[in-house]
Parts: sequence; C-alpha cells; structure tokens
Amino acid sequence: MKITDFFRNNRQTVSFEIFPPKLDTPLETILNKLGDFASMKPDFISVTYGAGGSKKGRTLEIASRIKEDYGIESLAHFTCVGHSIDEIDAMLRQMKEKKIDNLLALRGDPPADMPDFDFSKNVFSYASELIRHIRKKDGFCIGAACYPEGHADSPRISKDMYHLKQKVDEGVDFLITQLFFDNRIFYDFMDKVKAYNITCPVLPGIMPIFKADQIKRIASMCGASMPAKLVLLLDKYGNTPDMQKAGIEYASNQIRDLLDNGVDGIHINTMNKVEATRTILQNIGKL
Ligand code: FAD
Repeated sequence: MKITDFFRNNRQTVSFEIFPPKLDTPLETILNKLGDFASMKPDFISVTYGAGGSKKGRTLEIASRIKEDYGIESLAHFTCVGHSIDEIDAMLRQMKEKKIDNLLALRGDPPADMPDFDFSKNVFSYASELIRHIRKKDGFCIGAACYPEGHADSPRISKDMYHLKQKVDEGVDFLITQLFFDNRIFYDFMDKVKAYNITCPVLPGIMPIFKADQIKRIASMCGASMPAKLVLLLDKYGNTPDMQKAGIEYASNQIRDLLDNGVDGIHINTMNKVEATRTILQNIGKL
C-alpha cells in the first residue's frame, strides 16, 4: 500500500520513525520491539538508513518485517551518497523483492570521516536526481525531506525553498520535515510551501527530548533552533530522569497544537523508545 493512500479524505496520519541498531548489536533489539510499536496502530513506520549505507541490509530487513509480520505499512529511508548506480538499482530491486512500496529518497550527509566530501563526484549530487531516477522505474511511493529552518548547507532559505520545489516536481508524493521545537517555524514554513505551489502532504517530524546533552548534540547537527522556553527546560532538568518527563510533555504539546492546526499528520521520531511513544499517543488522545 502506498502512504499517499492514507491522506485521502483529509485524514491526519500518525507515523513513527525507528532506527536499526549498530552492526555489533543484535537485530533482535529492535525486532523485539516491533510488536509493541505495531500495537499502537501507527499508519506507517519509517526505518532510517545508516550514514553511507552502513546498515542498509538492516533497514530493508526491519522495513520488511514491519509489513510482513505486523501488517503495518513501512517506509524505508534511502540515501544515495557514496553509492554507484548499480548499487542504487540493486537496492531498489531488493526493496521490490521485499514488497516495500514506500521509500524516503535522500541525498545523505558526507561520510563522517570525509567532511569535505565532494557531492559533484557522487552519482547523484542531490536528492532530486535520485528521485528522477527512481520515478523512471515506477511503482514506488516516494517521500523526501524538507527543512523548516532551511537545510544547513543552504546559503539562504529562499534558495532551499527553490530547490525543494524542484525536488517535489521530480515526483515527490509527500514530505517529512526535519525536527523543530517551535511550531511557529513550521507554520511560517507552510506559508512558504504554499507560496512555492508545493501541494503534496507535509508531515512535521517531532523528536521528544530525553536528555539535554543528547538533544543539544542532535539540534546542533541538523541546525534546529531552540526557543527560550525549551532552553529553560534543558537548564532546569539537564540529563535527569525528570527531563524525559518534561520532554514527553513538550513533544505532546507541540503535537496537539499541530493537529489542532490541521497538519496532514505527525511523524514521531521514537528514538526506539516504546513507552515514551505510548505516553505521547495517550497524551494526544490517539490511544
Ligand atoms: P537535498 O534535497 O539534495 O538537499 C541538500 C542540499 O542541497 C540543500 O541545501 C538544498 O537546498 C541543496 N540543493 C538541492 N538541489 C540543489 C541544486 N540543484 N543546486 C544547488 N543546491 C541544491 N540521513 C541519513 O543518512 N539517513 C537517514 O535515514 C536520514 N533520514 C532523514 C529523514 C528526514 C525526515 C530528514 C529531514 C533528514 C534525514 N536524513 C537522513 C538527513 C539527510 O540525509 C541530510 O539532511 C542531507 O544532508 C540532505 O539530504 P536531502 O535529501 O534533504 O538533500
């Protein structure tokens, strides 16, 4: 089933993001949680793709098990950085073999040990080129990433919006946003989305905060800004267990407000935490 089918009749979707464990950790650490995640009846579950394709087999295996074992639709993230065209086509074939209908087509970040990586030497320099390639093959429902505060590499937000429009026009069916902590940033972004005549559904990506250090690191990597009220929370609770409680409350408030304001759906970055995800769904009245 294609994820676009969920958006019929203006239904607001609820979806989860999970990540494969490191290669030296058994796959069962996440497979054993799939039943719990599935019991919360999300519309779909997305599985991230390790930087540079390091865990690509795991992404496919988990995405396939979500669908085959639990009947929940899956979305496999896929980055093209560092892959040859043959490797890209082999991945697409494997996705088809595993009956994965939905993929999130991404350019990816430079490999960790190569900060000056030259994307012009990559098979595809931008996600839009990967999307054009996948579209030719037909049959996939294609999601892509977008950045309410602009992508970190982009010299200005208007340029990022221009390239986002180009990307969507290559055949994107829906967008998922980078995490953000201030809904006003998302609402302003949606005004720009409309102004650029981008009409596909846009799912806000929400990441609950569990530890102050962790979220500061993640936010600095992806360029998400922190509103004053969040900085105060981080200062108050730091890395204590109370931070998790406050973080879940903060994310729940963000999501309630987004749903009330008519978003197409909510994509929750679960950080593989079952109970925290369950609490959020209870808080927002979806369980
Ligand atoms: P693009 O859309 O290609 O954009 C990258 C940059 O290039 C932007 O600054 C854009 O403005 C610019 N640009 C685009 N087209 C042009 C052009 N024609 N000329 C000049 N500039 C241009 N990474 C992973 O490794 N694994 C994951 O699973 C993963 N999942 C993600 C999920 C979401 C929802 C998001 C928001 C990000 C995710 N990422 C993931 C991170 C992503 O790979 C990085 O942000 C990456 O740097 C950009 O990928 P993209 O597909 O957005 O790139």
